[in-house]
Amino acid sequence: MSLSSIDLHTDPAQFPGMDVYAVAGNPISHSKSPAIHKRFSEQSNQSMHYGRLQPALGEFAATAKSFFVAGGKGMNVTIPFKLDAQEFADVLTARAQLAGAVNTLRIENGKIFGDNTDGAGLVRDLSAQGIKIQGARILLLGAGGAARGVLGPLLEQSPKELIIANRSSPKADELVQLFSELATTYQAVLASVTLSDLEGSDKTLSPFDLIINATAAGLSNESPVSDIAASHIFIPQSFAYDMVYGKVTAFMQQALHRGSRVSDGLGMLVEQAADAFLIWRGAHLNKSIDPRAVLSELRS
Ligand code: NDP
Repeated sequence: MSLSSIDLHTDPAQFPGMDVYAVAGNPISHSKSPAIHKRFSEQSNQSMHYGRLQPALGEFAATAKSFFVAGGKGMNVTIPFKLDAQEFADVLTARAQLAGAVNTLRIENGKIFGDNTDGAGLVRDLSAQGIKIQGARILLLGAGGAARGVLGPLLEQSPKELIIANRSSPKADELVQLFSELATTYQAVLASVTLSDLEGSDKTLSPFDLIINATAAGLSNESPVSDIAASHIFIPQSFAYDMVYGKVTAFMQQALHRGSRVSDGLGMLVEQAADAFLIWRGAHLNKSIDPRAVLSELRS
């Protein structure tokens, strides 16, 4: 393995005769992915090891290369390496190209394939929670990698309207341009605003059926929306989804205060992992794994 990476018992050479996978991120010690994949492998009787890798910043490609050369079969990629992973892959799936980022790598005949399962994971988690995207008015907060990753799969469900609100407008405008053709195909209205626009009295900006927080604000215990904006966008019929998981964020609290239903992003994490697992181990295992049971175990 590359000396610059922290190898957390993940060197494939240490597991002869076993297929080895890993999640790479920095930091990575908090990752729940090893526990999730361990449960999937138990549920489907797969003999495999899934560990953690913490490449140094700027060293993703060197670490990933060492991992695959040493026999690694597949890798999940998280913050801050999803763009590096996209560059590292030899071949990209259509959805990875659209997402502009890769969270799942696999090797086949010496070629590295890059995919992105984040958006599919979000859509499945929303569906499992009874949320209908078709015909819905959606507010997507944020225009970073996570927002871009979920835009395609959300639009493909034909929402009535999808508004992207970001702190800085150029990034949100760029996403609208990139996805306008797809929006037209699925007959969805796609537009961008700034977070401060949400404080205005424009009736078209309030309220929403589904509000997705894809900003990193929750990590620092902040909400991306002010209380004034919150009073416009949430109603009791709204569903507020924060991609950050493991806590009730300030964004979720604002929504709860207005009677809306809320969810954190743990289900998305489990569902995107399920897709990665099936990509690596075979789609036929679909019936053998139970992501919702794994989610319940993680929550208990
Ligand atoms: P990026 O760094 O690519 O983007 C961050 C986004 O958050 C930008 O739109 C940025 O706005 C915005 N932002 C950051 N801080 C604030 C703030 N204080 N107020 C308002 N906006 C803010 O990160 P990602 O898109 O990759 O990740 C976003 C979040 O989603 C992370 O918390 C991550 O953990 C989570 N995530 C969860 C997943 C899951 O499976 N549950 C999967 C993927 C991501 P600006 O452009 O103005 O800087």
